[in-house]
Amino acid sequence: MQLILEIKNLQVAVEDTIIINDFNLEISAGELHVLMGPNGSGKSTLALTLMGHPRYQVKKGLIALNSQEITHISPDKRAKAGLFLSFQQPQEIPGVQVFNFLKEARRAITGNNEGVDEIYDELCDYMDLLGIDQRFAYRNLNDGFSGGEKKRFELLQLLMLKPKLVILDEIDSGLDIDALKSVAEGIQLAQEQNPDLSILLITHYQRILKHIKTPDYVHILQKGTLQQSGNYQLIEAIEQGGYEIFN
Ligand code: ADP
Ligand code: MG
Repeated sequence: MQLILEIKNLQVAVEDTIIINDFNLEISAGELHVLMGPNGSGKSTLALTLMGHPRYQVKKGLIALNSQEITHISPDKRAKAGLFLSFQQPQEIPGVQVFNFLKEARRAITGNNEGVDEIYDELCDYMDLLGIDQRFAYRNLNDGFSGGEKKRFELLQLLMLKPKLVILDEIDSGLDIDALKSVAEGIQLAQEQNPDLSILLITHYQRILKHIKTPDYVHILQKGTLQQSGNYQLIEAIEQGGYEIFN
């Protein structure tokens, strides 16, 4: 199986405090990996480091995507290489219209000069599938969106941008059951669209996993280090005993 993400001996600091240490992970094409861990264990730090957020300094180690080293390249180049991060807290960007944003992002990432109508038609199809009102195409990015709408919009971006690896940072947090279902359907749709899509799903709960395929691996992060890796049964153990079982 083709290796999509390779993280070797990663050490990450924020303002000179080491947050992630000695972190190793390999994700192959089409695999679903779940990353769990207590609040403050470094999950979002890892996600933002993979995307190249300038606040997070890689002190040691390397990150490779599809055999290309990306450890120190800019976020736009990482996106072009096939990486997509859905934020735990999506930003509101007044003045940037949803449709224009997606059109420009898609053109920048694919390098194709697709027609506006073609992109718009595809956008409308995905909006229907995700249960997003088509009028959202003309609203400003996340501006005044509810929590559930922001998360669905992250998936809309995922479907439009067609990455190789997607990192979903707590896409299920704060959602009611209907919003959770439509978010899970969006993930399934992205998998159907591209069976080789690799997913790193950061979550606290197994409830979203009831709606999508069984994870291939489950990893537990504690204090910035991988404590244990295993299968689905790890999640059940945590839901019963909490993270203390690893101490
Ligand atoms: P998680 O997503 O697992 O809840 P985070 O990655 O958000 O954890 O945070 C991990 C640790 O890094 C926490 O102790 C947090 O306080 C610290 N941290 C995260 N971002 C910053 C920052 N910008 N400045 C200082 N410390 C930070
Ligand atoms: Mg987080």
